[in-house]
Amino acid sequence: MEDHWQNLLELAQQFYEGWLRAPNIRFNLGFLRGSEIKQQFYCELLLHFKYSRGEVDLEQRQSTARRIVSKVLIEARRPVRYGWIRIPLIYPIKGVPVITSPDAILVNEDKVVAIVKASTSRFLRLSLGDEALARLQMYMLELLGFNTLETRYYIVKGSRDELVEALLYIKNNKVPPPKVKTHILAHDEQRAEELVSWALAYWTYKREPRPNPSPGKCRKCPYRSICPRAIT
Ligand code: SF4
Repeated sequence: MEDHWQNLLELAQQFYEGWLRAPNIRFNLGFLRGSEIKQQFYCELLLHFKYSRGEVDLEQRQSTARRIVSKVLIEARRPVRYGWIRIPLIYPIKGVPVITSPDAILVNEDKVVAIVKASTSRFLRLSLGDEALARLQMYMLELLGFNTLETRYYIVKGSRDELVEALLYIKNNKVPPPKVKTHILAHDEQRAEELVSWALAYWTYKREPRPNPSPGKCRKCPYRSICPRAIT
């Protein structure tokens, strides 16, 4: 088995057996989910309120992560050489295990040709959180040993039928038609490290949570009555 698949399999095994944990991160979480890193870019203080007030079911979080990682244990044992795969990723970044599940990855031997994040949302703007998650997933594939030199990350938004059509375009190395709203990012290791380091600094106590207020966010935030930075 090639090194990149072996790496993924071994890390999943270690996580599943309880060996792969960060001993000293906030709230004793042990590992992070890609979605948690994405949320930090929306408003880190909101996320901090949620965890510090015990409003996240940590047992359920742990069992969900084990379920996700168990998929790696199945899929990575019989790796696909060419085509779309749907496999979660796990890698300890600066000692903090991160788990994330890309919607679809197009591989050609060791090369990651494309990663797709598909959404039926009509919200067209690319948020910083969307970018951070995309860069995190490309970065983790690189760290696992996949070839990401020409990887493109497609964030596609449209109806279900349009998204299926978009996958065919991407597989044929074409940009989806304009009716599908598409953002394309190339892998950029430096930018990925910058975003991921910023996120990890919070979890590893190197800095306090940063608020990211805006009238739209704060108006619907459940913590606006206790938040010193709320904009109303
Ligand atoms: S009220 Fe605004 S700044 Fe405060 S946590 Fe909520 S979204 Fe963030």
